[in-house]
Amino acid sequence: MPELPEVEIVCRNLNEILKPPFQIASWQFFRKDLRFKIPQKELLQLLNKDILAIQRRAKYILFETADAVIVSHLGMTGSWRVESKDWNKRKHDHVAFEFKTDLFLIYEDARRFGFIEFFKKSEVHQRFADLGPEPLAKETDFDQLTKNFKKLSSPIKIALMNQKFLVGVGNIYASEVLFRSGVSPLKKCSNVTAEQYKLIWKWTKKILESAIEKGGSTIENYRNSFGESGGYQASFFVYGRKGQLCIKCNTPVRSLVQGGRTTFWCKTCQK
Ligand SMILES: [Zn+2]
Repeated sequence: MPELPEVEIVCRNLNEILKPPFQIASWQFFRKDLRFKIPQKELLQLLNKDILAIQRRAKYILFETADAVIVSHLGMTGSWRVESKDWNKRKHDHVAFEFKTDLFLIYEDARRFGFIEFFKKSEVHQRFADLGPEPLAKETDFDQLTKNFKKLSSPIKIALMNQKFLVGVGNIYASEVLFRSGVSPLKKCSNVTAEQYKLIWKWTKKILESAIEKGGSTIENYRNSFGESGGYQASFFVYGRKGQLCIKCNTPVRSLVQGGRTTFWCKTCQK
């Protein structure tokens, strides 16, 4: 599943290739729904309008016109790729938009957990009202974040992945952050010390930035918009390494299920 680094990379790729502003010349829809119904009628209203910016918020990609925003979520297996005129439709291509520049942007998604939504610009903030701060944004107040987390009784791994408290840390990077910080994923948020929170925020930023630099992580099928896979999976310390020896202490890496997701950790290194 694409997490923050992978979505950030898709946004950067699209900006690099498409160089907003550009106009939408046509839409092609190959089915009515993804995870939700595709808002075809609203999207057709955007013909001949300029896309002014492509931005990321949490794990959403925002295509912005002067008064509307198309919100895209990649779900488990979604991707946007850019093609030129004589592109060949693949089995799981569901939506294509053509630009006045003769380029096409195609949404492909085998499992269809992704979705596309339409909002008026004045209403889009409501869509994101429940989201916490961005870990890589300069204005994020990590002292306040520590205070908020100290009030929680849930295990730190579960809270780290809760987008209401902090966006963009999914299952993979939560395991990696807690390992690097030396904090047990089972530790209650209220028992995590201020020193440990400092480490958690430091490693959250470092790991996400490093993953973006290395092109993201390709676990199943993630590809960027140039069709390239990521390289950060080679840097995992614990994720997907159950039974293999811990890089720091040589005891076997363990796994456990928390909130329906598999956590990888080292019982010796993480307290
Ligand atoms: Zn260890």
